[in-house]
Amino acid sequence: MDALSTPYPHLFAPLDLGFTQLRNRVLMGSMHTGLEDRRKDFPKLAAYFAERAEGGAALLVTGGFAPNIEGWVKPFAGKLSWPWEARKHRQVTSAVHAHGAKICLQLLHAGRYAYHPLQVAPTRLKAPINPFTPRALSARGVERTITAYANAAKLAREGGYDGVEVMGSEGYLINQFLSARTNHRDDAWGGTPEKRMRFAIEIVRRIREACGPDFIIIYRLSMLELVPEGSDWDEIVAQAKAIEAAGATIINTGIGWHEARVPTIATSVPRAAFAGVTAKLRPHVALPLVATNRINMPEVAESVLATGGADMVSMARPLLADPQWVNKARVGKSDAINTCIACNQACLDHVFQNKLASCLVNPRACMETELNYPKTYAPKRIAVVGAGPAGLACATIAAERGHRVTLFDAASEIGGQFNLAKTIPGKEEFHETLRYFRHRIDETRVDLRLSTVVTTETLSGYDSVVLATGVTPRAVNFPGHDHSKVVSYLDVLQKRVVPGHRVAIIGAGGIGFDVAEYLVQNAPSPSLDPGAWMHEWGVDASFDSAGGLARPRVEPPEREIWLLQRSPGKPGARLAKTTGWIHRSTLKAKGVTMLGGVEYLGVDDAGLRIRVGDTEQTLPVDHVVICAGQESRRDLLAPLQAAAVPVQLIGGADVAAELDAKRAIAQASRVAAAL
Ligand code: FAD
Ligand code: NAP
Ligand code: SF4
Repeated sequence: MDALSTPYPHLFAPLDLGFTQLRNRVLMGSMHTGLEDRRKDFPKLAAYFAERAEGGAALLVTGGFAPNIEGWVKPFAGKLSWPWEARKHRQVTSAVHAHGAKICLQLLHAGRYAYHPLQVAPTRLKAPINPFTPRALSARGVERTITAYANAAKLAREGGYDGVEVMGSEGYLINQFLSARTNHRDDAWGGTPEKRMRFAIEIVRRIREACGPDFIIIYRLSMLELVPEGSDWDEIVAQAKAIEAAGATIINTGIGWHEARVPTIATSVPRAAFAGVTAKLRPHVALPLVATNRINMPEVAESVLATGGADMVSMARPLLADPQWVNKARVGKSDAINTCIACNQACLDHVFQNKLASCLVNPRACMETELNYPKTYAPKRIAVVGAGPAGLACATIAAERGHRVTLFDAASEIGGQFNLAKTIPGKEEFHETLRYFRHRIDETRVDLRLSTVVTTETLSGYDSVVLATGVTPRAVNFPGHDHSKVVSYLDVLQKRVVPGHRVAIIGAGGIGFDVAEYLVQNAPSPSLDPGAWMHEWGVDASFDSAGGLARPRVEPPEREIWLLQRSPGKPGARLAKTTGWIHRSTLKAKGVTMLGGVEYLGVDDAGLRIRVGDTEQTLPVDHVVICAGQESRRDLLAPLQAAAVPVQLIGGADVAAELDAKRAIAQASRVAAAL
């Protein structure tokens, strides 16, 4: 199918780079998976990239490889400085080339973000997100580092790569040289914007010199820094022009330093929220520009390209979620795409915990050689009870494998608790997962029976039963728990109760935080309105100011909220690493009172009586919303076992504690692979 016969003609137009052509406008953005770090994982890395290349992407970029040991992101992370390190990359590059795609290796020197004591930086300044303090590079050290970049690029070429991406953004070493925030030098590499730029320019120039004219050099330019003292717009334009002159082939967009206090890729960030910054640079350079961040569906990508604001789109997590994203988009099957919901739960959060990355909606990601769904030669009749995330994944995979699957749910729609999650402001993407599963149910011909409360009798005649009946909210039993003010999060999110102006939330886990965000949001969700979202987070919508920052303007909420937990310490400490701070900041900005170490003394007409330390007080609330965790719902298990029916538990029905959709879907997929 050519560019004219696809619904997304701009996305599928080839891109001519002069010495080579890209088959479409999709760049798979760099993403550290953990497979880069150990030689023995390279066959897995090759399989991972091969699936994405077969899936249609034009140009893939690897996770970051350091040009020397000082530049390691963490001890023994991926590095490319010796010929024997280059040779092992051949298996990755040839696997990608076999599917007609091109691949660049990302060169990343972490600078002061390196999580080890050997770290270096332009100036001895500790990053706020790292316990280590860097050593300032000497002038000779700067020269040595530039040589290391050129050497690594040459080795990448020997390893079969079509080019490199020079990571110049996100607050890593090159970015640290560029910025007055982190570069306080007064030698040839600092002191004026021109001297701060020299390091980046020399790296690109020397790579071009070392690798010749027919080698792709992508430069990831920090276009919107989102930190105080970050580059202003004039400096960014000057940097882009200098990088073009130094010999880059493509400029990719970098948004936000890792230490920025503005979210840049979380699910609450509006789709394509930062495409405007790439578009603003478009008139200033002739090189192809790549737009990035929160572009996750073909319609979004097409509109970014059609408006002329960029020449390519970068997607990393969306291709983790669905390796076939590009092929599906090309033939107009947008509905069949397993959409990245930008939750970070299995990708970025794993990387920060030193675990292998994967994907909440696609547990096969980075497990391509291990988790597969082979056709069965012995089809069975399988009943799956519960169409929440666990039941949906299990039923559709089992049916795809050739089993005859009936999927039951008591509710009138599929989705289980995801139907609650999707009502939370900033979690609108959860609708996409349900759309995807509706499509999968049709495609795999699962026999779906909604509005059916399953009993043991319903389940006679099946060869195997999978119970995915999920969870029920945990009851509390302090005095007054049955007062009319006391309601469950189900009552609120299913709109059976509209809470009053003053509300206490009991339980500050993921659901307590979500309910608080639901209750403090007055207007339509800012996640659906980039302008409103930028106001709230203090992003200068003109992108002119230093770092692109403005004064945040937060709409005061209509409700006064208390978010409470019994454990000592700050509520939210156990939320996820990459997104917990966003939830805490949002609620703080909305004036929510968050208290730990709370004892619940009772509820009466006056409100909720609590004790914190030695102090007792009555919170004069209209409602108390209970978000005190969940318990497994598995009343069908014992009778089925008694009747000797082969039965398995998955998701919340199996274990309710610490349950999330990541665990539910991963477990369901593994069970379905073995049925
Ligand atoms: P459930 O989703 O509970 O589904 C169970 C299904 O079984 C239900 O549809 C129910 O109707 C059906 N059922 C039960 N008994 C019967 C019966 N006898 N007959 C027929 N049908 C029956 N997780 C994350 O990972 N990330 C998030 O950001 C996130 N946000 C959340 C926000 C909110 C507000 C809530 C409430 C949850 C959130 N979760 C999130 C948690 C996530 O939704 C759950 O972990 C997940 O839904 C559990 O999946 P499950 O399939 O095990 O159970
Ligand atoms: P949770 O995280 O286990 O939190 C339950 C809260 O209730 C805790 O704050 C707990 O704190 C309190 N609690 C427990 N028993 C109580 C009792 N008997 N009386 C009063 N308070 C009690 O569970 P959840 O909030 O229901 O979330 C369920 C799961 O959904 C989570 O594990 C989470 O992974 C997932 N989820 C994830 C997200 C996300 O953004 N990733 C969002 C929503 C939900 P104390 O014991 O200290 O009081
Ligand atoms: Fe996207 Fe979440 Fe999967 Fe990461 S884990 S790729 S953010 S859906």
